Amino acid sequence: MAVRLFNTYSRALEEFRPLDPTGREVKMYTCGPTVYSHAHIGNFRAYLFEDLLQRHLEGRGFDVRRVMNITDVDDKTIRGSREADVPLAEFTSQFKKAFFDDLDTLRIKRADSFPEATDPREIAKMIEMIGTLMERGLAYQAEDKSIYFRINKFPDYGKLAHFDLEELRSTGRVKSDEYDKEHIGDFALWKAWDEADGPVKWSSPWGAGRPGWHIECSAMATQLLGDQLDIHCGGVDNIFPHHEAEIAQTEGCTGKKFVRCWLHCAHLMVEGQKMAKSLGNFYTLRDVLAKGYSGREVRYALMRVHYRAPLNFTWEGMEEARQALGRIDDWVERLRVEASDTNKSKAPSSKLQAPEKHQAPKAESGFRQALDDDLNISGALGALFETIRETNRQMDAGETGAEEAKSWLEWWKGVDGVLQISGDEAELPAEIAELAEARVQARLAKDWRKSDELRDVLAARGWEARDTKDGQKITRRGGA
Ligand code: AMP
Ligand code: ZN
Repeated sequence: MAVRLFNTYSRALEEFRPLDPTGREVKMYTCGPTVYSHAHIGNFRAYLFEDLLQRHLEGRGFDVRRVMNITDVDDKTIRGSREADVPLAEFTSQFKKAFFDDLDTLRIKRADSFPEATDPREIAKMIEMIGTLMERGLAYQAEDKSIYFRINKFPDYGKLAHFDLEELRSTGRVKSDEYDKEHIGDFALWKAWDEADGPVKWSSPWGAGRPGWHIECSAMATQLLGDQLDIHCGGVDNIFPHHEAEIAQTEGCTGKKFVRCWLHCAHLMVEGQKMAKSLGNFYTLRDVLAKGYSGREVRYALMRVHYRAPLNFTWEGMEEARQALGRIDDWVERLRVEASDTNKSKAPSSKLQAPEKHQAPKAESGFRQALDDDLNISGALGALFETIRETNRQMDAGETGAEEAKSWLEWWKGVDGVLQISGDEAELPAEIAELAEARVQARLAKDWRKSDELRDVLAARGWEARDTKDGQKITRRGGA
């Protein structure tokens, strides 16, 4: 079955086919962070949906080339560096580093490149594109010396967001104090230097200044992926004006269709409102880790709802994620025990067939087929948990042989290649192993008080002790 994705541009589910004539290579651009503070977990919902998309496409045999930009110059980064009284590059570098650490904690696959807006090569590309737009009459210099895009000259403006230019006047979404502009919706391509920018400026044919946010993405996307992309993603708040502007600028320069498929994820919400820095209702990844949750638990919690449905962030949701992962861990552990038990290799054949090389099992196809359907994660997780239930039942009944258990472990490896939620198999640090062993001994001696105390000591050090049918399990709580 083909992969179908919901294209924001057409507002329809479309069969996904990349431009590459061999049908393999996928060019994917994802709007990245503005590095003026730590990203919040709402931002990571967007990055996680993009990660799921990339991994699923790769699982389906596509070769994904992905670029994610880093916005390291804009109003907020400049303001932050001035307030901290450090140079812009120094101010942003701490948040760049934190961003990459967070990506690792959440097991998000690194993009092939992370271009930075202040890279001289990228600035040159932005200036070149603005020059082309000026030559074509699609841009003009206003009295304030800034360069603006002339949206009246681009008839398709508004097609992505599905609204009329005329409506713009009443949306209130465009700053109305910029009187220099011809049309209230015209957006800045180049912002003329002013005092608030301090030392942050680049020279251009139109005077000193800095690029507007939208042109940064058009330049970095085309510089690294060419004039035409297969997929462009972001959160729904990026649709207008950011992505609308990207289309106008890029197509205004190249005359070619910029993006084949636009995908946008719905917001992570807190009590009915978008999680946002400006509303002060946000958690960073660090905040959630400090409460004792692990990176994979956050990953699961943010990924388990379909990307186009708003997701409410709650601590109960985090607990549910922990429980779901606990079930998966126990199942994988049980399969490992079964797989190493050679006496069981002649078990009777069972109802649910384990995957074999030549025949895609029902669950296998169920998981991937659900994701083919516009990343239907609920369906995919449903298929996974159905498999867990059924194989657990078989193991309870002693119907699973070692070979069958091995096949299921192989199947799980493929599934986890997409989900990236398997338990941390790292060796326990010596001190933790000692505490864990002491707790096993306390339980054998039925010293429940000591056992509980040791559980608390372990928890305080970031490890969770769980008692399962197969004995005590120790997993990491904080960190990756
Ligand atoms: P920003 O740093 O604000 O440009 O945002 C980076 C990415 O996170 C963009 O793709 C935004 O659309 C996305 N984003 C911001 N807030 C949320 C949220 N509450 N839920 C989901 N995605 C978000
Ligand atoms: Zn962007």
